[in-house]
Amino acid sequence: MHVIYSDLMVSPAQGTSPSAAKPRPVVEAWMALDPEVRILPPKPVTIDDFARAHERSFVENIFAQRIPNGFGTRSSEVNRSLPYTTGAMLDGARLALSQKTAVAAPVSGFHHARWSEAAAYCTFNGLMVTAMALRAEHPKLRVGILDYDYHYGDGTDDILHRLGLDWIVHYSAGQKYLYADQATAFLDAIPTHVAKMAGCDVVLYQAGADPHIDDPLGGFLSTAELADRDRRVFQGLHDRGIPVAWNLAGGYQQPLSKVVAIHRNTYRACKAIYDAPMARSAR
Ligand SMILES: [Zn+2]
Repeated sequence: MHVIYSDLMVSPAQGTSPSAAKPRPVVEAWMALDPEVRILPPKPVTIDDFARAHERSFVENIFAQRIPNGFGTRSSEVNRSLPYTTGAMLDGARLALSQKTAVAAPVSGFHHARWSEAAAYCTFNGLMVTAMALRAEHPKLRVGILDYDYHYGDGTDDILHRLGLDWIVHYSAGQKYLYADQATAFLDAIPTHVAKMAGCDVVLYQAGADPHIDDPLGGFLSTAELADRDRRVFQGLHDRGIPVAWNLAGGYQQPLSKVVAIHRNTYRACKAIYDAPMARSAR
């Protein structure tokens, strides 16, 4: 499987969130798991790319360190990484689309970022920046965003409502599934959520680790149920012939190895399913 990664995506962890530092240990775990992993460096996105999904002055204020990033800091190291983390998502989606396959982007920190506001460990909305860039490259493209982070992708919806886009299908489980007694209902509903993505040329999948039952900021699925989630998502998309680019999203257990283990399971599920060629094209 292809993974979009370079050390330029990594910056020091900020406060209680490990997200900024997470790409490297996750990629190391994937390399240990899969000797055939193919690592490609991301092309950094530009201010113009960010400004398709955000107010331009907001983007410029972040990079000028006039306002804090999504972690509430003004870290120049985090700022330097941002074009590369969103760039990894975009290049992952481009590659998934062109090769009709699955690509992993080991990045986090997207779905709470709004049109003109960073929030909750998210500075820029790399999902929406990616979707907008892809649409600029392919004018009839339809993009799905399947968000299975524990938390609601409110920033994504904010940008969608602001721009009034009808070619993006967004589903965020964090609006509905929050409690342990909903685990079975959630897993049973996955085919319905995946079916919403029918007709999309590519899906961006937020494979969040924070739905894990032990996560201090989330929690309603066991390790086995999370792995089952990923298998159902990848199998459902693969059956429909839909390419997928997926990312890490949230995960806050300590030590970080517990979070890395969840992302390792997602990789394993994806590889097992997408190593087989897709039978049908997406549309
Ligand atoms: Zn989350």
